Amino acid sequence: MRKIVSGNLGYPRIGRNREWKKVIEAYWAGQIAEPDLRERLTAIRLDNLRTQQSKGIDVIPVGDFTYYDHVLDTAVMFGLVPARFEYDGGPVPLDTYYAIARGNKQAAASEMTKWFNTNYHYIVPELGDREPKLTVNYPLEAYREAKQALQMEGRPVLLGLYTFLKLSKGYGEGEFNVWVDKLLPLYIQVLRELAAEGAAWVQIDEPALVIELTAEDIQQLNLIYKTIVQEVPGISIMLQTYFAAVSGYQQVIALPVQGIGLDFVHGLEGNLSALREFGYPAGKVLGAGVIDGRNIWRSDLKAAKQLLDEIVELAPEAEKVIVQPSCSLLHVPVSLQGETELEPLLKDALAFAEEKLDEVASLKESFSSSSIPALFAENEQSIQALSAAPVRNRHNVRSRVEQALQQPSERKNKFAVRRVKQEQKWKLPLLPTTTIGSFPQTKEVRSARQKWRKGEWSTEQYDQYIQSEIDKWIRIQEEIGLDVLVHGEFERTDMVEFFGEKLPGFAFTRGGWVQSYGTRCVKPPIIYGDVEFGQPMTVKETQYAQSLTQKPVKGMLTGPITILNWSFVRTDIPRKNVAYQIALALREEVEALERAGIEMIQVDEPALREGLPLKREDWQEYLDWSVNAFRISTSSVQDTTQIHTHMCYCEFQDIIDSIQALDADVISIETSRSHGELISSFEEHTYPLGIGLGVYDIHSPRVPSKEEMLSLIERALEVLDPQLFWINPDCGLKTRGQEETVAALSHMVSAAETYREKV
Ligand code: GLN
Ligand code: ZN
Repeated sequence: MRKIVSGNLGYPRIGRNREWKKVIEAYWAGQIAEPDLRERLTAIRLDNLRTQQSKGIDVIPVGDFTYYDHVLDTAVMFGLVPARFEYDGGPVPLDTYYAIARGNKQAAASEMTKWFNTNYHYIVPELGDREPKLTVNYPLEAYREAKQALQMEGRPVLLGLYTFLKLSKGYGEGEFNVWVDKLLPLYIQVLRELAAEGAAWVQIDEPALVIELTAEDIQQLNLIYKTIVQEVPGISIMLQTYFAAVSGYQQVIALPVQGIGLDFVHGLEGNLSALREFGYPAGKVLGAGVIDGRNIWRSDLKAAKQLLDEIVELAPEAEKVIVQPSCSLLHVPVSLQGETELEPLLKDALAFAEEKLDEVASLKESFSSSSIPALFAENEQSIQALSAAPVRNRHNVRSRVEQALQQPSERKNKFAVRRVKQEQKWKLPLLPTTTIGSFPQTKEVRSARQKWRKGEWSTEQYDQYIQSEIDKWIRIQEEIGLDVLVHGEFERTDMVEFFGEKLPGFAFTRGGWVQSYGTRCVKPPIIYGDVEFGQPMTVKETQYAQSLTQKPVKGMLTGPITILNWSFVRTDIPRKNVAYQIALALREEVEALERAGIEMIQVDEPALREGLPLKREDWQEYLDWSVNAFRISTSSVQDTTQIHTHMCYCEFQDIIDSIQALDADVISIETSRSHGELISSFEEHTYPLGIGLGVYDIHSPRVPSKEEMLSLIERALEVLDPQLFWINPDCGLKTRGQEETVAALSHMVSAAETYREKV
């Protein structure tokens, strides 16, 4: 019998009911003291370990838990506290730790950015300010705790040195090696202490190995792991990669470590074909990530077993194969248990973290028992039932997508022609002023929605309330003197959920939370069926707003790629097809708006860049279909109808061709926090369509002066055509208060007026 081992790589921290978030936020609010916080977090941490134990998982990670973010943990473990925070060596105090993450009165927070291609965000380590030293050995503490409290032999997890440095900033080109030299002894110290304590294995996460590796990178990796293995002979290293196939398979498997973990879900093609071609070294453990750690669907266990069979066949020693999720389960919700309201057909087809561990366990079982584990048939049935369901077989949707896939979508005429017609129709002043869509979502707005959802308010009552907000803000916008108005998005909680709730094919969980950053969790919608247009989603409010004013009111939609990237997406059809389905549904909404007399329509794509694949060689394909999806939504309108789009990031240059290819008549982009950078990118590249660079930061309550904004405008107009330039804030204003919003927008409008008077 070819027995294999089962393992896990990381577990959600947040608890079944987001207890983790609540406890930490209570501490921030001063409601509980530090010892209390520590005690409660320990309870969650141990509970997570018990769950994994009860599922029969052999290899359980310890030390993957955190008080905020695991990358920040690694930085503070080495005493890497940015110089602007007070710190006198020794273990980093909890309040300093949180200050780095969130800022305090004296100093700004460290930057936060996306963890590879996930929706998790980590705190970017800032090197260079202080000499690193080992302040506490977190993995050791975690290892000890599990042993003492649960008699568990956990496998400590560490973020690998190579990835840690790749994710850090604050060192110059060519200084990578210098930092390897500084940190390597500290890693060695951590591992020695672990070995002395009795830990046999450690999991070292090196997800950066899936991104292009140069010969120099390989050399550095070799140096790091050769040194570690030499210096700490007492511990075995499981080098764990995930999110894609490793780059340079042959060099990676040759690294002098005792085990390597590969992602056979998101890196299936690359890793499997490399394994087939080059085999796997004898004596090394192989971590086979075959259960998707990034999605919420039950696995086809038969197929997973087949894949494992092949892997076991190709790996010289079967007992050295560990069946495991493709990555940490941090990216999926905790448990399906609380989902009492999902349609059974859908619920049966789902697997969150707890259920995924059952899948891992039963795959292991399938290797040691002569009968097939019951979960195999259960999964097969559920998957088949869902795939046979009418929601997944809307033939009209499928054939429309097929048609759409045939040809790229285009506006009737090129921008040059549309521009003239639009100028005649709209007669806007030079440097037209507008906003990005939302106005303050006050406590009153949210409580009105709660009352309506709970049935305390009738729909008429709620609609009336929304109308009164629209009335108020149309008046305010007119008083301020903005040129293009918006209705304010008061009826929306969230820019994806709002549309998802109205589009057939989407479902919403009660407790399907995943950590986005720090204590912030999101509850992504689930796209489980064919998506199609049901009925108009935004016409009522927009048309109402337009009836109150002579000025144009801009309709406001979320684009297909943003809806896609912020949801859990079905995997039985290509992602691109799902995007096209959403795009076709949105096209009907765009047309409905146009018919209702709304002839400026903004289709927001703040998440376009987020969806970029990890490997650059895959970028173009993604961008091509994404751009096409956007164009499917927006290209059927009249020449005089003005399509706007909006993006909240300023890294623009490397995808500028695709942004231009969206062919939106006007784009507004977040700019103010990195003005110089974005503007200088236009020195080399003239942008030929309408564009508004955000002139003030909406993340802060600070009201910038007219002069400040005017100087940003003048700087931008050194490189951009004033005839195509728009004036707007960075992003929507939903998190701001009324007073500061009115003040800032008034300054913005007078900045535009001052400029117009000058020319
Ligand atoms: N229209 C949206 C708003 O104003 C855009 C939000 C976003 O870009 N994230 O709120
Ligand atoms: Zn934005």
